[in-house]
Amino acid sequence: MNLPDMKEAKSRNKEKVEFIYTNPLKSDAFSGKKYFIKTYGCQMNVHDSEEISGLLENIGFERVESELDADIIILNTCAIRENAHDKVFGFLGRCKHLKKDKPDLKLILCGCMAQEKHVVDEIMAKHKYIDLVFGTHNIHEFPNYLMNLGDGLNIEVKSNEGNVYETGETFKRDSKYTAWINIMYGCDKFCTYCIVPYTRGKERSRKSKDILKEVECLKEKGYKEVTLLGQNVNAYGCDSEEEISFAELLEKVAQTGIDRIRFVTSHPWNFTDEMINIIAKYPNIMPYIHLPLQSGSDRILRLMGRRYTKEEYLQLFNKIKSTIPNAAVTTDIIVGFPNETDEDFEETLSVVEECKYDGAFTFIYSPREGTPAAKMDDKIALSVKEDRLHRLNEIVNKYSNLNNQKYLGKTVKVLLVGNSEKDDSKLYGYTETMKLVNVICDKSLIGEIVDVKITEAKSFSLDGIVEK
Ligand code: SF4
Repeated sequence: MNLPDMKEAKSRNKEKVEFIYTNPLKSDAFSGKKYFIKTYGCQMNVHDSEEISGLLENIGFERVESELDADIIILNTCAIRENAHDKVFGFLGRCKHLKKDKPDLKLILCGCMAQEKHVVDEIMAKHKYIDLVFGTHNIHEFPNYLMNLGDGLNIEVKSNEGNVYETGETFKRDSKYTAWINIMYGCDKFCTYCIVPYTRGKERSRKSKDILKEVECLKEKGYKEVTLLGQNVNAYGCDSEEEISFAELLEKVAQTGIDRIRFVTSHPWNFTDEMINIIAKYPNIMPYIHLPLQSGSDRILRLMGRRYTKEEYLQLFNKIKSTIPNAAVTTDIIVGFPNETDEDFEETLSVVEECKYDGAFTFIYSPREGTPAAKMDDKIALSVKEDRLHRLNEIVNKYSNLNNQKYLGKTVKVLLVGNSEKDDSKLYGYTETMKLVNVICDKSLIGEIVDVKITEAKSFSLDGIVEK
C-alpha cells in the first residue's frame, strides 16, 4: 500500500488556526424558548447536534421532543444519500404549515446539505419559508445568527474550513456514560462517490492536548466510554507538523485509564502496524474495528479512488485478526457502482466469504451531485443491483449470525446504557466487541460495566443475564 503523502498534506494545512470559541451571548438571552432538533446521517452529525444543543441551552433554550412544541426547529442534515434529501424537504414541508398558527416559528437547516451549492440554490428557489441555513464550518456562530436573524431567508454558509474551533464544555451530550469526541474534521481522500470532502472540507486535526483534556474531564464526570470520531479518523495528525500520529494519540488516551475507547471510521490506507500493536496492547482500547471495504474488485476500487487493492485489504485484515484474535470487524460495502460487472461483484462476495465479518452496512450506490462518480455513465439495471444487494445481505447475515453464536454460554463484559425499547424488563448495552446485548437486570445498573452470561444469540443481537 502506498504511504500517505504526509509532507504534502502538512504544508497544505499550514494556515490552520485553532482557538477557543466563547459564546458572547448571555445565558438567559432566549430564556423560556423551546427548540426541537432532528438529526440525519452519521455519528459526526449526531455529535454536531450535541454541540448545537449545548450552544442553545447555554443561552436559555430548552429542548422539546416534538416539533409541535418548539419555537425553533432545527434539521441537522446529511448529504450522503439521495433519500436523506427527500426526507428533509418532506419534513420541512410539514413544518411550514405550522407557521400558519405560529408565525414566529423559525425553521433552520444546517449540516452537510447546507454545504451543497445545488441545495442552497434549491432553497432559494423553492423553500424561502426556511428562516436560516448555516453550514458545517460555522456551527459555533449559530447563537449569533439567531440573535441577529433578519426577516425571510438568511443564508450563512462558509467554505473556509481552515479553522478548528474548540467549543470546550458547551456540548449537551445525549448520554451520561458514553461520549463522542471529535478528534478531526474533514477528509482529503476524495473517493469518487463521496460528497464528504466537499461538505466537510479538508482534514484538520484538533490538538492532542485538548483531546486528552476532554477525555480526562469526561472520565472525572463518570463517563465509561469515549469514541474518537473523524470522517477518516486514523488520518489524525497527518495535516499538522506538531501533532502526534493516531496510534500515539490512541496510546495516550488509553493511558488516561478511561474504561473503554473506540474509534470510527478508519480508512484501510491509514491503518498502520503501530495502530494494530497499540490496540492489542491496551485492554481499554476495544477490540472492535470498522474497516470499510466498499468493493472487492480491484477495478472498482480503482474507479472509486479507494487507494488499496483487494490483496492489500486482505493482508491488513489478516494482520488485524492475527494480532488481535478477539477483534470483531465490521465493514461498509457498496453494490452497483457504475458498470460493476458480475465478475466484480463476485470478487466482493469472495472477500466477504473470506473475512466473515461480524456485520456490514450494505448499500446500493446512489450518485451524489458534484462527485466524479455521478458523471459516470451506468448501464446496469436497478433490478440487477437489487438482486446483488439481496445476495450480499444473505451472506453478511449468515456470518453475523455465526459470529454471534460463538458467544452463546460465554460471560462477557457489557456496558449497560439504557432501557431496552422492546422489553421494559430489560436493559441494553454493548460488549467490548460492540455486540448489542439485551439483559434482564436491575435498572440501577445503567451506566455500569457488568459480567453478562449470554443465553441466546440472534443474528443482530444477544440476550443475557447478569452474573453475580
Ligand atoms: S475516506 Fe472516502 S468515503 Fe470516507 S469520507 Fe473520505 S472521501 Fe468519503
